[in-house]
Amino acid sequence: MKVLQVSAEIFPLLKTGGLADIAGALPYALHRVGCVVRVLLPGFPAIMADLTDATVLTELTAPWGEHVRVLQGRLATLAQDAYIIDVPGLYARAGSPYEDANRKPYADNYLRFALLGWVAACLANGLDPHWQPRVVHSHDWHAGLTSAYMAFLPQRTQRAATVYTVHNLAYQGLFAPACFSELGLPQQAYVDHGLEFYGQVSFMKAGLHYADHITTVSPTYAHEIQTPEQGCGLDGLLRRRSGVLSGILNAVDGTIWNPAIDPNIIHRFDAADRSGKALCKASFQQSVGLDVRPDALLFGIVSRLTEQKGLHLVLSTLHAILSRGGQLVVLGTGDSAFESAFCERAAAYPQSVSVRIGYDEAYAHRVFAATDVTMVPSRFEPCGLTQMYGLKYGSLPLVHRVGGLADTIADCSLEDMADGLANGFVFDLFTPQALERALRRAFVLYSRPNDWNTVQERGMKTPLGWDHAAAQYMALYQQLCA
Ligand code: ADP
Repeated sequence: MKVLQVSAEIFPLLKTGGLADIAGALPYALHRVGCVVRVLLPGFPAIMADLTDATVLTELTAPWGEHVRVLQGRLATLAQDAYIIDVPGLYARAGSPYEDANRKPYADNYLRFALLGWVAACLANGLDPHWQPRVVHSHDWHAGLTSAYMAFLPQRTQRAATVYTVHNLAYQGLFAPACFSELGLPQQAYVDHGLEFYGQVSFMKAGLHYADHITTVSPTYAHEIQTPEQGCGLDGLLRRRSGVLSGILNAVDGTIWNPAIDPNIIHRFDAADRSGKALCKASFQQSVGLDVRPDALLFGIVSRLTEQKGLHLVLSTLHAILSRGGQLVVLGTGDSAFESAFCERAAAYPQSVSVRIGYDEAYAHRVFAATDVTMVPSRFEPCGLTQMYGLKYGSLPLVHRVGGLADTIADCSLEDMADGLANGFVFDLFTPQALERALRRAFVLYSRPNDWNTVQERGMKTPLGWDHAAAQYMALYQQLCA
């Protein structure tokens, strides 16, 4: 089964969030179930720098007249065959792939990512005579136009099946209506049953409308996005397409996220012997200037600092952590209001609160290894990876019951403790009071070492590998190709 994966990011070369982790791990996982995957990526500097054995597959003219070189080669770090769109005028920009240094989205993003979809459609339509995908699997709004272009390009080969995965419906790729005329799509695509979304061009909507099948990254999120509350205005379309919409839970790349072999942490540990975790905690507390107290319940947050992530709840319940002798460590970057609010708390309570503003992959691993609790109180969460990383590193997740958080974490309620299911702390109402009660449960469990150890060990042993998800994607591909 030949699969073309289309995404804007791929770990470890270029990452702004969970999308990259999945785009990096999925090709390996699919390979293990019998797929041959090639990836298509824009030629961002970090991608170009990793490309080896590159040859020019072809040169094309984009619908808006841009000269395009499509390279074929191998991403060295990932040992992955790849097609790369080499248009320096669009992609050779340092920093974020989406925004300039002032965090302003690039004005030509509609062309930068339309090109990703257009080249994907060309590849699906026989651009490489030696490699014809049966399935084109595109991810998030950046690749949303793939299936729209495929719907309108004159068909030269057997049509590939299209799968579109929504990693976060809130980021939709909306552009001014004037952009549409440059995309090279027929006017009939700029309608309600197409790309038009309340007078704008929506790349997300294109993916949702034209793909043969839509997946989201957890079963609960697949339901939630069909409701007005979480549908971001697209719930009607998603309800209409519910027969071809399913949720496949993301997984964890155990070669990257495994405390037994993690090169980013000083003391390794596993579920059977967690002594290294205590050492990680002590050395971390010391290195960031927190009181070195093994008994201090250490909470961790590794997150984009955005409204989605429920961080105002954390700010307003910090007293509930500190008054019980707990500590908080935050690693994140994002909205400046959150950045300064957390920095203020760190300045006020330097022995109990440590904040690092920025993006730091290695430090993130150290946070999961050191902390006792990983907080993910998101307002909504398509899947969430950090609660799964927390589980793997013995840092019990404390989460809001939404999306993939609901699908992965069971609360330490008496019945779930008795049934051997509990692996974290879950709150239902999105309020400071509900979060505070969950914090309280974490402190109570911590005061009962036997129970804490049982839950921690269970969490670390939770099967989170890619095998199950890969089998589900494979079954989907086979069904679509049948
Ligand atoms: P989202 O995709 O909404 O950001 P996920 O939980 O799905 O949320 O994925 C977030 C990914 O980004 C995880 O791999 C997490 O460890 C990582 N991450 C988030 N913020 C940072 C940061 N400041 N430094 C390092 N890694 C981060």
